[in-house]
Amino acid sequence: MRIIKTIKHLKSILSAARGKGLTIGFVPTMGYFHEGHLSLMYRAKKECDICVVSIYVNPKQFGPKEDFSRYPRDIKRDAMMAKKENVDILFIPSDNVIYPNCYLTCIDVEKISSLLCGKYRPGHFKGVATIVAKLLNIVAPDIMYLGQKDAQQVVVLKKMAADLNFPVNIRVVPTVREEDGLAKSSRNVYLTQAQRAQAPVLYQALKSAAKRMRAGECRASQIVGMISRSIKQYSDGKIQYVACVGADTLEPLKMLKGKVLVALSVTFGKTRLIDNVIVSVKNPGKI
Ligand code: AMP
Repeated sequence: MRIIKTIKHLKSILSAARGKGLTIGFVPTMGYFHEGHLSLMYRAKKECDICVVSIYVNPKQFGPKEDFSRYPRDIKRDAMMAKKENVDILFIPSDNVIYPNCYLTCIDVEKISSLLCGKYRPGHFKGVATIVAKLLNIVAPDIMYLGQKDAQQVVVLKKMAADLNFPVNIRVVPTVREEDGLAKSSRNVYLTQAQRAQAPVLYQALKSAAKRMRAGECRASQIVGMISRSIKQYSDGKIQYVACVGADTLEPLKMLKGKVLVALSVTFGKTRLIDNVIVSVKNPGKI
């Protein structure tokens, strides 16, 4: 595995590979790897000749009161884990490489960036779209791999890629979870023991809601109500939102039909956890 720090170096290696007809899979990350990240690398390696992983904690996607400076970082450990996953290239650019002096350009995927998490993290998806657009231009992969855990990020980045004609395929990889159901996240290390013990309620509530939807419940208000009640009953988490929206559009739904994204964000102390499930509602209105 090669660790590359400059755009010029990365581009020269990748253009040589492309010249040989090799395909490139790309996994953008902020590092501090867990099995969620590794599952994206595994897929990329399986489906492409070369797997490129980037690690960059992007300051533009953190709000002024968010955890940018304390976000967990451990490049040595990450490099060992990536190597075990047979990653070919780990791209670790510095701030100067990504945002040189006088950097001015941002990408704003309007409307859908201000829904759900966007309401609580203004500017977040603008930062995400900007860094991913830059990385796509630098790496020029055939396929980019994203995790379903960040469902809104997937919708925003797919829209950006479509609107701006990025010649990339996007593959979405299922959420990897702890044994008790909690979605793996670099931020789980912030949880106290008591918060960690309560956090699995999020996925339990989502799973029960999915079951109810499959049994025919098609009123979004009932689903949102049932999830919210469980979270309040079994944890001290503070709900930011629980929502049922169109899985491909993020459009708010009153009656559930088609591919529905049930998503939530809950804070435990200062730690914000998100999770979601996608449910196909085939026969709406049985209840
Ligand atoms: P991050 O380092 O948090 O920016 O995440 C990098 C990529 O890993 C994103 O595409 C995430 O959606 C994905 N990811 C994070 N957590 C998980 C998880 N538990 N399961 C699957 N993918 C994940």
